Amino acid sequence: MGSRRDFLGKLTVSAISLPILYSPAQLFAASSKPYEGPILRVAIMGLGSYGTRVAKAMESCQRAKLVGLISGTPSKVVDWRAKYDIPEKNCYNYDTFDQIKNNPDIDAVYVITPNGLHKDQVIRVAKAGKHVICEKPMGINAKEGQEMVDACKAAKVKLLVGYRMHYEPKTVEVIRMRKAGEFGKLKFFQGLSGFTIGDPTQWRLNKKLAGGGAMMDIGIYSINGARYMLGEEPIWVTAQETKTDPVKFKEGVDETIQFQMGFPSGATASCLSTYAMSHLDRFFLNGEKGFAEMQPSTGYGPIKGRTHKGELTQPHITHQTLQMDGMAQLIFEGVQPIVPVDGEEGLRDLKIIDAIYKATKTGQKVDL
Ligand code: NAD
Repeated sequence: MGSRRDFLGKLTVSAISLPILYSPAQLFAASSKPYEGPILRVAIMGLGSYGTRVAKAMESCQRAKLVGLISGTPSKVVDWRAKYDIPEKNCYNYDTFDQIKNNPDIDAVYVITPNGLHKDQVIRVAKAGKHVICEKPMGINAKEGQEMVDACKAAKVKLLVGYRMHYEPKTVEVIRMRKAGEFGKLKFFQGLSGFTIGDPTQWRLNKKLAGGGAMMDIGIYSINGARYMLGEEPIWVTAQETKTDPVKFKEGVDETIQFQMGFPSGATASCLSTYAMSHLDRFFLNGEKGFAEMQPSTGYGPIKGRTHKGELTQPHITHQTLQMDGMAQLIFEGVQPIVPVDGEEGLRDLKIIDAIYKATKTGQKVDL
């Protein structure tokens, strides 16, 4: 997988005039001036598998740096401190991290723990006066999401959600084409999001920690994708759940849900979210003048895709590197990505998830 540094190394100055802006941070770097602006000093909370990926990606960031850790496992802290040269005074556990408020060397905390813990942790970080980046899903329902948005607003800190695809170059290009009207009037989106989940004892299959099942974890990509590919907010959903393994997927933990969304323009979306099928990572967008198809569409990349105009050729850059540089620029300079990554954006997805779960229970169309 190429890093941002690999990409920048290959980038010539002429690339600055390319019509597609991958991210303002990247273009700044492409001007070959060393970056001298502020650096977002980040502590990661939850040193698990995705936290590990984010930390590694941040090594290639220009505007963001890993400077602190919050973990319940002392041995991990020892390893990470050595690997990333992190001072002991910037390390906390889940009991002590409110003290981060007294630490002037940390600007933001990136919460990368199980979904069911996000709300309380985000609110504690906000109360400590630090900006918060929270992994998706932002919380486990819209009520939680609203509390998180309100708490961050009250604390005057930013709340951002780890929507890495909003910085991914091929995705950004399709959104640019959509905004420029190149697909014509949009009619239909299909999103297929799923994988076969393993270990039945993991938190992702625990209702309390996960908030649900595949929909919370992977189906959310099709929800968010439908919104950024069509550029509209849904006004209704319908949904059907199927469960082939009720032992592994207990009450409240969805295995497979098919769902449909309707949009104000008349466009519709048809999506599948599952923990029981492999190789399921595909978006298809259809309009009167053209189409876009992406497969894989939301994995760690490289993303692949084509439109009616041909193959998407934007470079693969580690998503989390772009995301963290972009979020630093958002926090310091207010530069917004092509699609928002703020708490309101996270809340929109949670409202749709609530409606989908309601629709699976009632069998009725749910208005949003
Ligand atoms: P993981 O199980 O690998 O890591 C979770 C971390 O949280 C571990 O370090 C664990 O020790 C810690 N933790 C703290 N309290 C815990 C508790 N009570 N129970 C279990 N673990 C606890 O999970 P992950 O894959 O890193 O996922 C973490 C978050 O990141 C989730 O919200 C997930 O949806 C999100 N995620 C996002 C992406 C993405 O591409 N944006 C990818 C993977 C995961």
